[in-house]
Amino acid sequence: MHTIIEPFKIKSVEPIHFTTREQRIDILQRACYNPFLIHADDVLIDLLTDSGTSAMSSAQWAGIMIGDESYAGSNSFFHFEKTIQDLTGMPIVIPTHQGRAAEKILFSVIGGKGKFVVSNTLFDTTRANIEFSGTEGVDLLCKEGKIPSVPASFKGNMDSVAFENFIKEKGAENISLCIITVTNNSGGGQPVSMRNIKEVKSICETNKIPLFIDACRFAENCYFIKKREEGYANISIPEIAHELFSYADGCTMSAKKDAFANIGGFIALRNEELAIQCRNLLIITEGFTTYGGLAGRDLEAISIGLKEVMEENYLQYRIRSIEYLTEKLIAANVPVMQPAGGHAVYLDAKAMLPHIPADQYPGQALVAALYVEGGVRGVEIGSLMFGKYDENGKLIPAVMELVRLAIPRRVYTQSHIDYVAEVIIEVYKNRDKIKGLKIEYEAPALRHFTVEMREIE
Ligand SMILES: *Cc1c(COP(=O)(O)O)cnc(C)c1O
Repeated sequence: MHTIIEPFKIKSVEPIHFTTREQRIDILQRACYNPFLIHADDVLIDLLTDSGTSAMSSAQWAGIMIGDESYAGSNSFFHFEKTIQDLTGMPIVIPTHQGRAAEKILFSVIGGKGKFVVSNTLFDTTRANIEFSGTEGVDLLCKEGKIPSVPASFKGNMDSVAFENFIKEKGAENISLCIITVTNNSGGGQPVSMRNIKEVKSICETNKIPLFIDACRFAENCYFIKKREEGYANISIPEIAHELFSYADGCTMSAKKDAFANIGGFIALRNEELAIQCRNLLIITEGFTTYGGLAGRDLEAISIGLKEVMEENYLQYRIRSIEYLTEKLIAANVPVMQPAGGHAVYLDAKAMLPHIPADQYPGQALVAALYVEGGVRGVEIGSLMFGKYDENGKLIPAVMELVRLAIPRRVYTQSHIDYVAEVIIEVYKNRDKIKGLKIEYEAPALRHFTVEMREIE
């Protein structure tokens, strides 16, 4: 077996910016220990997110040039619509400017007070949009999914027994939707099996609860199904994707992930009545139904990207590059989420920094240490992102304290990844010196984006 190489050659390059450790200490303090407040020029390797950060292909850039900017009935919209209809088998396609705009519209229509939306794990913007409508979001992740150190094939699965119990307890009529996130971004980029989706579908059907897919990383999930689930080894990725979507009544997607686009998203549906309500809201908030907050060129780039992402050479390289970094870290005893996920490496800050309690945000402290050590930017997925307060103002911590290092698609080469491994291992060796953090300012929702913190001496 030869090395799995990057399945592309590089036509256009962008410089990255070097800083000294002293500069980074100063930059981090000025950014109040919040990686979102650091200027991108001060970051060497940017693993903050894989969202909108992909390198587009020459075919996508060519698509940008032929984008049809007609206000209504743009040719690029019909290309977009047909691509998504073919991919999902869903007849109705509504473009939005990104994933959360799709969520905002969907949950404004079906949400409301006293209801519940259940999921394997809701992503932060999904949860925020559900809660903003007055509905309660409930994560019912399988047990394996909650233990970072124990590998399993499909740690993104929903706990179907817990789902049935939840229906008995709350009543099916109070559950407006079930949405499965593939892959499970907040739970380590771990895949969901086809079997699990079928099981959940059958429970939804019996109880007349619509099933949706949060499809941001559908292709990565389908590749895991092909590699790990019995019966799929010889089935093509588009066919696996088609089956996956066949169980759903609708989906939302951020095209900033598995469509290699810098912006974009959509809702796809089967139900015309729901579509009418969504389109009415779309016109108020996003734009007319054939562009939904996007330029014609974006629609074109997304259509091309959605096909490229299902190429197996690409998916093999993609999944291997995450696994490669994970393996290097495991070899150095760094606690990481196992097995490797589809789009990111997740460091287990709880296991790595036992001297920092949850209310001093060990994940965020680790993010800070990685930046100072090597200019690598990651993001906390733990109590800063998901923690809540009880009635006495005491922190209710998240289940896991993770640091996500998301790998942008087709952007970094193997030597960049080797460098990242060296930085993490160096931080790990000096982990005893890492200090906890205290919040100085926080917003009422999605506080991690704007939080200001300082180090506890
Ligand atoms: C990124 C993401 C979203 C939101 O999409 P945006 O384009 O960032 O608004 C929703 N769900 C999941 C799983 C995501 O990864």
